[in-house]
Amino acid sequence: TDAHIAAMEARADLNAYVLPTPDRAREMAAASDARIAKGKAGAMEGIPIAMKDLFCTDGTRTTAGSKILGNFVPPYESTVSANLWSAGAVLLGKANLDEFAMGSTNQTSAFGDVVNPWTRTDEPTRKLVPGGSSGGSAAAVAGRIALGATGTDTGGSIRQPASFCGIVGLKPTYGRCSRWGIVAFASSLDQAGPMARTVEDVAIMLGAMAGHDPKDSTSAPIAVPDFTAALEQGVKGLKVGIPREYRPEEGLSPEIDAIWTRGMEMLKDAGAEPVDISLPHTKYALATYYIIAPAEASSNLARYDGVRYGLRVLDEGDGLNDMYMKTRGAGFGAEVKRRILIGTYALSAGYYDAYYLKAQKVRSLIARDFKAAFDQGVDVILTPATPSAAFPLDDAPSDPVTMYLNDVFTVPTSLAGLPGLSVPVALTEAGLPQGLQLIGRPFDEETVLRAGRALE
Ligand code: GLN
Repeated sequence: TDAHIAAMEARADLNAYVLPTPDRAREMAAASDARIAKGKAGAMEGIPIAMKDLFCTDGTRTTAGSKILGNFVPPYESTVSANLWSAGAVLLGKANLDEFAMGSTNQTSAFGDVVNPWTRTDEPTRKLVPGGSSGGSAAAVAGRIALGATGTDTGGSIRQPASFCGIVGLKPTYGRCSRWGIVAFASSLDQAGPMARTVEDVAIMLGAMAGHDPKDSTSAPIAVPDFTAALEQGVKGLKVGIPREYRPEEGLSPEIDAIWTRGMEMLKDAGAEPVDISLPHTKYALATYYIIAPAEASSNLARYDGVRYGLRVLDEGDGLNDMYMKTRGAGFGAEVKRRILIGTYALSAGYYDAYYLKAQKVRSLIARDFKAAFDQGVDVILTPATPSAAFPLDDAPSDPVTMYLNDVFTVPTSLAGLPGLSVPVALTEAGLPQGLQLIGRPFDEETVLRAGRALE
């Protein structure tokens, strides 16, 4: 913990933390030492981690990357963070993120850009984005200022920054980890997951985070297996689905395609067998996601009204509506406002059937494609995690629709509620890490992690 606190100070330039908590870290580490002395070590005893600032931490400011929660100190602890503390983990600080987890570069944060540690030292002015929305978490792990970090993934926010920063990130099955105490973005998609340097670390961390929670009605009453034991099984005989819709004919860059092929070769060398599969509705996933996620966000974010949480802007003589408008106008950033506008439009009386209901139907078709592949005997599906490696901050797309294309490989998994693991597999010609994604059956993180290990 002391070494990490020193490293955090030395790499403050990454802006990976919105709130470092060194005092709390030292206290927790001391308590951990005491438990170790009594022979009572948990699975993550003494392991210092970063907590995405979307997880409520009792008595420690939680901002969701937004001005509107800039002074919010929760009086409760999220279930996932509480589980990690029970396993012995130590909190180094709250990690930077895109505002309310909406974004792919961490640029929508109200607390400044995060720098990807892969930024070239001979080109320090050309800073690379870490990805998003769990950009601070990914940069902290890649920059060696946390041993692991929590992320949340609604449409790729664990897997895409993991790929951009060359680390491992897992979005578990929807329902595997409790959403209680996590600031809500899109409730039918949000899922917490681990980010770390190796598949084994991710497996250990998931074991500590996961589990049924009566406080979240969508948390699954399913036992948590020993994810690390599964890693010993190897991948011999495993059938790996390769979706033909993602091939270069459909627009994938030849460079990423080559890394994808290399990943398949690694799995084959370890005894797995490739199987050609089809996901015919996957091409509608982005459009579907960008209706459903904003619709749910517009509803979830209605609670920031200047009354109950965080910021309140109220001038002498103002009425209730003035307070709503001024608070929300000043508190939310541009991307969040865009999503609220899209979402309220899609949910409004005259458009509900045409947009939201239609998107829900397409979502079922996308989930059915995956089910058909698994029913035909495929154990795990391999795809690129992202359509490109990290790009410079000053080259980030300025129009939102181009930005949303970053999520093309990650949102289908999210819409289907399946587990998805991003593993760094190779460096691009520019010397930047590129991840591949492994997708599994519902609650079969074990197979996904086994296959992930063969890609390390
Ligand atoms: N980039 C996606 C978005 O902006 C994913 C975000 C997420 O998974 N939280 O919605």
